[in-house]
Amino acid sequence: MHGKTERGLDYTPLFRFLLSKVGLDWNEVYSEATSRLDKPEPIFWIVALNEDDKEDYVRVGESTYFSGLYINSDGKLKLSNPELSAKDMTPACSCCTHTLNGKVFGTD
Ligand SMILES: [Zn+2]
Repeated sequence: MHGKTERGLDYTPLFRFLLSKVGLDWNEVYSEATSRLDKPEPIFWIVALNEDDKEDYVRVGESTYFSGLYINSDGKLKLSNPELSAKDMTPACSCCTHTLNGKVFGTD
């Protein structure tokens, strides 16, 4: 495990925050999220503003993935693929610990 020794800022807390706000009004989520950040860009690594741009999952680190999110037509934050789970994902290699939303691939 590399954890805090990895280069760059760790936006895991931001992504966990966004995932915890699924179903809520995007404007409120966005203003709360930006109040904790020096710049808003990392929000849009996993949040698509248009439904057409949404992705099932997004790679945010070497072997770290988070569920993709998007803003629906009602202005609510939604999961791009609510069915997606770490259990169903297969790591690209066996030497690294791959995680989706902090859960190791192949586990519940
Ligand atoms: Zn590896």
